[in-house]
Amino acid sequence: MKFKRVLLKLSGEALAGHSGFGLSPLEIDRICNEIKDVIDIGVEVGIVVGGGNIFRGISDVAKEMSRTVADDMGMLATVINGLALKDSLRRKGINAHVMSATRIDKVCDLFSSEIAKNYLASKEPVVFVGGTGNPYFTTDTAAALRALEIDADVLLKATKVDGVYD
Ligand code: UDP
Repeated sequence: MKFKRVLLKLSGEALAGHSGFGLSPLEIDRICNEIKDVIDIGVEVGIVVGGGNIFRGISDVAKEMSRTVADDMGMLATVINGLALKDSLRRKGINAHVMSATRIDKVCDLFSSEIAKNYLASKEPVVFVGGTGNPYFTTDTAAALRALEIDADVLLKATKVDGVYD
């Protein structure tokens, strides 16, 4: 195996399917089948999920809003996506966990790198939500942060947005 522990960054749009908005059960199912395939061969998988399929702090809808409030809404959107991934993975028999950068009791756990690493070592994937917990950031930053905190061997970003590769 080339990578034992991976951090996969999934953009929110990846969960939306063709419409680009909201959640597509078919697309979530397809992605979770792929995640299950790599878990089944022994790869430890952490996932940072975005929220752009529901809300972005810099979107048109938010342009009259306070940026910090809009970014809080964006971070909460990632929680919805994380719960959808957890639910789909659990229905496939995978004991997935959701950890948030900020406390959301009864919905998910608070992020702890030690607990996350214990889950991953037991081949239980962890979906990291709530971004970094700070406004003015994106979930790409959260992905880099969590990758370092869980000692990932690689950070893989799945996106439709073109960009800089090297
Ligand atoms: N966000 C934030 N701080 C973070 C991560 C995300 O404020 O650390 C907010 C921000 O408003 C962002 C939204 O959450 O637009 C959704 O995240 P992102 O745009 O990264 O999602 P993606 O494009 O990956 O779906």
